Amino acid sequence: MVYDLFVIGGGPAGYVAAIRGSQLGMKVAIAEEKFLGGTCTNVGCIPTKSWLASSELFQNIKEAKKFGITTENFSIDMKSVKSRTDRVVMKGRKGIEYLLKKNNVDLLTGHATVDGLNKAHVSDKVVEFKNLLLAQGSHPIKFPPFNVDGVMTSDEIFSLDKIPSSILIVGGGVIGVEMANFFSSIGSAVTVVEVMDHILPNMDGDVAEVLTNSMKKRGIEIHTATKTLSVDKIADGFKVAFEDKERFEKTFEMILLSVGRKSNVTDDIKAIGVALDQKGNIITDDGLRTNIPSVYAAGDINGKYMLAHVASREGIVAVTNMKGGNLKMDYRSSPSVIFTTPEIGSVGYGEDELKKAGIEYKKGLFPMTALGRARTLEFNDGFGKILTDKGGNIIGVTIVGPMATEVLMEGVIAVHSKMNLDNLLEHGFKSRCPLQSGQKPVFFFKGGIHDRNHLWNFRCTFFRLSWNKNNSHAS
Ligand SMILES: Cc1cc2nc3c(=O)[nH]c(=O)nc-3n(C[C@H](O)[C@H](O)[C@H](O)COP(=O)(O)OP(=O)(O)OC[C@H]3O[C@@H](n4cnc5c(N)ncnc54)[C@H](O)[C@@H]3O)c2cc1C
Repeated sequence: MVYDLFVIGGGPAGYVAAIRGSQLGMKVAIAEEKFLGGTCTNVGCIPTKSWLASSELFQNIKEAKKFGITTENFSIDMKSVKSRTDRVVMKGRKGIEYLLKKNNVDLLTGHATVDGLNKAHVSDKVVEFKNLLLAQGSHPIKFPPFNVDGVMTSDEIFSLDKIPSSILIVGGGVIGVEMANFFSSIGSAVTVVEVMDHILPNMDGDVAEVLTNSMKKRGIEIHTATKTLSVDKIADGFKVAFEDKERFEKTFEMILLSVGRKSNVTDDIKAIGVALDQKGNIITDDGLRTNIPSVYAAGDINGKYMLAHVASREGIVAVTNMKGGNLKMDYRSSPSVIFTTPEIGSVGYGEDELKKAGIEYKKGLFPMTALGRARTLEFNDGFGKILTDKGGNIIGVTIVGPMATEVLMEGVIAVHSKMNLDNLLEHGFKSRCPLQSGQKPVFFFKGGIHDRNHLWNFRCTFFRLSWNKNNSHAS
């Protein structure tokens, strides 16, 4: 049989594309060499969030006294955290297998090697196809001095079933800070080392500052602008030498390296002539086309936005375009969320990015300290920030605070729909805000471009979500 579409990789890009391709009338086969769900389901988003659900609950119990609740004799058991996470992961994999079957996608288990533009093999099975979607994902980078036995990456960390007394996390990006939150909540002594000037180097400095302060308050040691010089294995862990302004050494039971990822572009892919960028990622346009008409590439393999929801959308855009569509990715309105304490959500432009590019903007900023609802949750850190262009269109939203990852969604709609502040008010959610009456406006919009009330809805929504979520916790 000649397939209309052959997908390599069963992660969020590949399996979603395969299903949509089949729904669009293509005969589809997908190859997966490890586990369906890829990085996200097996060693990424899902296990991280499962771990964080346990550690957040544990942290809340530790802090229950603040809310008038006395708790005694509670503890966290890493073996149980692991087995719960394994169950969650397994359910995800099974669900994807079921969806592929239900949508008549042929699943080929094994490593796929491309033998030409219309031919590949998976183990000893030859596959012929008209279109090819490359969705092989990425892998964690490891380099000296971290090439030492026992230094873990996110690929290995989820097999952990005991709490380390101390852990060094190398890299203060999204994965690094989420892991730092997890380990510090469950009782490990956590040190984060970052070569750049602040953690979360791809986000605004004010966001990093709030998170840095919050992490430090929780006892996490953070070293920025710091290089790791050497890593030596010792009897009960590792001895590590660093350099900021001067050299210093520390010992750790465990090391997690989270310094970035590289796309899985193999020699067979290079051999078919797919164009690569300088970092070795497959070059695609906004419709996920490569330089070869029948070959598309979606997800981490194109190195654009290494996020699961972006990968899935890219998969859908790719197969739709293969069928003659003309969809384009709107990367600007893809949200970025970080599950730390406080949570962080951002979409569109960041302020530092606008400054660097010399783009004029206006800003509204509201601190969480002034939000009564945040105080009821014992949250004082963070802010909500809205950026507009000089015409008043919303081009960026950042929220740092409780449930920021959920509240952000209205910002996503605003940025995607190129709303201005009036639109946000008009199409807002005022009527659904349960705590609306008597509340004062929240976001202070600097520069006098708007009356404070115009950001009222944003706060209402913030309130509404917080309120609902709190209620559902209680029920
Ligand atoms: C610790 C961690 C936490 C994360 N948290 C989040 C989060 O909260 N939110 C978010 O949006 N993103 C998160 N991500 C990123 C997210 O996991 C990735 O962006 C996403 O998985 C990319 O999807 P993909 O389909 O492109 O690649 P992958 O998920 O990597 O899937 C690629 C698949 O292809 C298979 N494969 C590769 N080569 C072949 C071959 N030749 N033959 C057969 N199969 C092959 C691989 O086995 C793999 O299963 C996280 C990542 C990590 C590491």
